[in-house]
Amino acid sequence: MGSKIVDISVIVRRIACQLLLCLAPVLAFAKTQVQGVRVWPAAEKTRLVFDLSAPAQHRVFTLTKPHRIVIDLANTRLAQPLPNRRFNSDLLRGLRSADKNNGILRVVLDLTHAARPKSFLLKPYKKHGHRLVIDLTPTEIKKPPQKLVKPAKPTKEVASVNREKLRDVVIAIDAGHGGEDPGAIGPQGTQEKKVVLAIARELARLVEREPGMHPIMIRNGDYYVGLRERINEARQHKADLFISIHADAFTHPKARGASVYVLSEKGASSEAARYLAKKENESDLIGGVSLNDKGDLLAQVLLDLSQTSTREASLGTAAAILAGLGKVSQVHNRNVQHAGFAVLKSPDVPSVLVETAFISNPHEERKLRSRHHQRRLAKAMMDGVRRYFYSNPLPGTLLARRRHIISRGDTLSEVAQHYDVNLNQLRLVNGLEGDRIKEGEILLIP
Ligand SMILES: [Zn+2]
Repeated sequence: MGSKIVDISVIVRRIACQLLLCLAPVLAFAKTQVQGVRVWPAAEKTRLVFDLSAPAQHRVFTLTKPHRIVIDLANTRLAQPLPNRRFNSDLLRGLRSADKNNGILRVVLDLTHAARPKSFLLKPYKKHGHRLVIDLTPTEIKKPPQKLVKPAKPTKEVASVNREKLRDVVIAIDAGHGGEDPGAIGPQGTQEKKVVLAIARELARLVEREPGMHPIMIRNGDYYVGLRERINEARQHKADLFISIHADAFTHPKARGASVYVLSEKGASSEAARYLAKKENESDLIGGVSLNDKGDLLAQVLLDLSQTSTREASLGTAAAILAGLGKVSQVHNRNVQHAGFAVLKSPDVPSVLVETAFISNPHEERKLRSRHHQRRLAKAMMDGVRRYFYSNPLPGTLLARRRHIISRGDTLSEVAQHYDVNLNQLRLVNGLEGDRIKEGEILLIP
């Protein structure tokens, strides 16, 4: 899992930036060296990491015609020439550098199209030293093709409804770790970040195929995304569910099976305190409501309401996902687990964290690497998600409309035929063992 450790590094990073401002005059005497540059290209974001001998004051700005990004590092020089190979990136064409006479090292990134830069310094962590990270987000993101929702046959129930206004349920899928943070590592050297991304992609593919649902990939390449950033991304997309996918590690190689986590009560109350403390200076919306114009007590009540309903939905989906996983693999914990994982702290997006298996267990490590097993895990999670949202349909979503009230003489196969759905799926989403249905019962139509 390892997310807690990384969360601390975020705090450390913040402190590091503040410290840096105070230390700047002292640092002016020493010349910082750039010891290497690494590039992590991906469609959504290209990350460059400069390995530094010490923290460096820097500024970043963009130039156009042609598109470039300039990074000036104070009192810095290159320890070795910059790599001048191809970076396998659609965005980054090349790297150049120049020593300015005032001790500034200027690095120029040649781009194929416009991108927004974001920079931050990282303190030494594990085998890495001081680093300057530059994230480049293309400003003209190629939008994925609009999802086609398979039109259902018009029925008495749905004919009068204006289908345009019904929305998809949005599922944010978060592959844990990434980039410099490999996550847990199996005895054969399998990296958690890689297998969880493969599982996440499988799950996204299944969600995409599901009528009335739409996936958002929080990480879709080999780069690190901060834990708060993951939460913010899900909230910006107004996700109805956030699933963080991981693969556990334990000192005991025999530990095995899946676990599903939701935020603990303690984690929720510390997060509430954080929101209430900063509510005066931030116009963040909680469940569509702004807290910063509310009195303390009202803000607290609103936040509490939002967190309570989020927690209920988190628990509901977590239980459904755990049940799904139990059908395809061993379950490590029979009950939903509670923990203070930072990535689960959205006050208004139901969030679950799935430890798909123990990567530290040689047998499970092997399974995690197999495409077949990755698909089975994704399918099991999809089954849980589907079951939850069909049993708890969100108002205003397409799924909420797909219901059939059984009249006298209806048979299950006729209903399936009428809505053009698979009979097995119809049984599955309604939890039916056989084909017996009762008049007046409501069937959920997948
Ligand atoms: Zn993990």
